Amino acid sequence: MNIAPDTWATYEDLTFKDILEQSTLLGYYQKLTGSDIIAFNVFNFMKMTNDERKKVALHEMGHALGFGHHDSGIMRQGRFSMTELDEHIKEDYYELY
Ligand SMILES: [Zn+2]
Repeated sequence: MNIAPDTWATYEDLTFKDILEQSTLLGYYQKLTGSDIIAFNVFNFMKMTNDERKKVALHEMGHALGFGHHDSGIMRQGRFSMTELDEHIKEDYYELY
């Protein structure tokens, strides 16, 4: 699956990186020309459970696939545990792809 179009300079779709920012930010997805970025904020990840980290990773991957925020499921904003995809995002997936 191509998330970002390849260019002469890059063939990666996504770059993952850690950031250290003293804020409530858990992570973010940034769409760029070439390789997009998913960043995880180590400042908060150090205090989170594995399942909370998985939720953030799935959430940001959802953004990379083109999904917006939702009031429930993996695309809901905030810190909580969730390790499996919910029905809403599955429906969005089959609609988009
Ligand atoms: Zn989000």
